[in-house]
Amino acid sequence: MMRLGIDLGGTNTVVGLCTLDGVLMDKISAPTKTGDPDGLCAVMHDLCRDLCDKHNIPYSEIEQIGIGLPGTLVKATCTLTFGTNLGMSNVCFAHAFEPEFNCPVNIDNDANCAALGEFHGGAGRGTRNLLMVTLGTGVGGGIVLEGKLYTGREDIAGEIGHMVIVPNGAPCNCGRHGCLETYASATGLIRLAREAMEQCPDTCLHAMVQENGGKLTAKMVCDARDAGDALADRVFNDYCDYLACGLTNLINVFQPDAIVIGGGVAGYGEKLLMPLRERVHAQQFKIAPEGTPIVAATLGNDAGIIGAALL
Ligand SMILES: [Zn+2]
Repeated sequence: MMRLGIDLGGTNTVVGLCTLDGVLMDKISAPTKTGDPDGLCAVMHDLCRDLCDKHNIPYSEIEQIGIGLPGTLVKATCTLTFGTNLGMSNVCFAHAFEPEFNCPVNIDNDANCAALGEFHGGAGRGTRNLLMVTLGTGVGGGIVLEGKLYTGREDIAGEIGHMVIVPNGAPCNCGRHGCLETYASATGLIRLAREAMEQCPDTCLHAMVQENGGKLTAKMVCDARDAGDALADRVFNDYCDYLACGLTNLINVFQPDAIVIGGGVAGYGEKLLMPLRERVHAQQFKIAPEGTPIVAATLGNDAGIIGAALL
């Protein structure tokens, strides 16, 4: 038996063929049909058939199809209630793969799927309790407790990014102020840098932004810091303070075996993780001398596919 995992993104739909223990054998993709629920389901269905045909796997050998979605959903009815970037709402996927595939179809939030993927096949392998924090445009999160995703009463738990770390702080898209997401996302790092640049003409970031058509990215802040820019270093240290505050709060609540950090900002690698560990381990509640492991995600975009397959 095998499983299929689908990463339904705003741009691409990727279907992966996985073994029962979460090894990704192959994957194929097609552009996502946004705003067209029937077209979207047809593309997913075709990709599932094509992938099985390519590997000569009978459709009856697929024991589960899982879909990771960007948005809110009801797992029990396999329904996407509102799809961020998908341009659709209230779409049920329970029968989307019939008649060829009569196996159960399960859905979950894409960040949760990534956490489950890292838990089974990536940086979280060997843990029982794991938190995954994704530092991208926003701050995503997934909570794995005793080997299972914790999704809460309304399937929307794990919104780590919307934990307030600065009361009355910067406004967040969710309506609150001072959420972790507004400080610790790539967008947050860019905002912190922009604000600091206004007060400081003496930073190489001004020239870098000008060369880049007026656009500032999180990577540019990291590059400026690597080049020895004092302002970029100060902004980055502030960024680490905010992120460490959020991670320490999470550790003190969950006491996970590890925290896995993914997303674009995690591409800064040990230069991000080392100062984070330093701050978090100095602040967290602990009995043993060593602090909670904070490690980089290892599966990249495949985490969501593998996690979906294992839902
Ligand atoms: Zn928020």
